[in-house]
Amino acid sequence: MEQQLKQLEQEALAKIEAALNLKELNEVRVAYLGKKGPITDLLKGMGKLSPEERPKMGALVNKVREHVTEQLEAKVAELEEQAVLEQLEKESIDVTLPGRPVRVGNRHPLTRVVEEIEDLFISMGYEVAEGPEVEKDYYNFEALNLPKGHPARDMQDTFYITEETLLRTHTSPVQARTMLEKKGEPLRIICPGKVFRRDSDDATHSHQFMQIEGLVVGENIRMSDLKGTLDKMAKKMFGSDREIRLRPSFFPFTEPSVEMDISCFKCGGSGCNVCKQTGWIEILGAGMVHPNVLEMGGYDSKKYSGFAFGMGVERIAMLKYGVEDIRHFYTNDNRFISQFQRTEG
Ligand SMILES: [Zn+2]
Repeated sequence: MEQQLKQLEQEALAKIEAALNLKELNEVRVAYLGKKGPITDLLKGMGKLSPEERPKMGALVNKVREHVTEQLEAKVAELEEQAVLEQLEKESIDVTLPGRPVRVGNRHPLTRVVEEIEDLFISMGYEVAEGPEVEKDYYNFEALNLPKGHPARDMQDTFYITEETLLRTHTSPVQARTMLEKKGEPLRIICPGKVFRRDSDDATHSHQFMQIEGLVVGENIRMSDLKGTLDKMAKKMFGSDREIRLRPSFFPFTEPSVEMDISCFKCGGSGCNVCKQTGWIEILGAGMVHPNVLEMGGYDSKKYSGFAFGMGVERIAMLKYGVEDIRHFYTNDNRFISQFQRTEG
């Protein structure tokens, strides 16, 4: 019997060792330790033994049972741990995988130019003024010294909506409106916005584009104030070694009128394709506010004077960023827009 017990123990321990999972292990438990198992049978058969042998065998059977149970539990623990490790392995996250890049938007180049100019003029005490894109003929033309039938109206091919309403051809009506709002108070404003002309679209023309204009009205505002302001802007926008020059020009709303050129930022004046070999680049139109415009805006032109300037935002952006076709600004092609990397400040 003792021999039989030893053999049972060996068998049980071998099967425990060989068990691959908890299910197999449970089968071993039922087979050897269960109510119908051989060890239980041996215990039941103790009655047949002599009183001397009984305690000895009892102790032996219990020892075997304890040993098998112990091994079984150890194996259960081992398999459970293995299962947890396997699960962890399966569910583990490879933190070395590269992440998906998050696309960060950029400000549109036209927005950048407008904000840069606005920031400069705000720092000089200007206010930003805006007005409607669908405008009255009166503010777009008449209040700017362009009465009906004036030949200079032909300079701006206009989208008319009715006889008296139109899509504004420039941002100057904002100047006319703001002067009336100020009721004779001195003012300094900068007006950015969209404007519209009946132009055929090509690399340098668009039926819709942006302008930014400035207007200063006060006592003793002189041409030299205009020149100093434009010089400061040219240096801020195109580099501190830029020089400016003013050439006589004509606009109905200013007298005298000038065009401003800057020294070429690419060749420094020696001549290149950007400045068409002249060393100078045309940037904007400007002038002293025409007395008629001041009077229509509610100012006494004997007491007040002022200057105004205006430029195309696209033209500035094209020069600044070397863009060759104005249509790139409007086609929403991300390959174009994403070239203008986000930089703060
Ligand atoms: Zn040049």
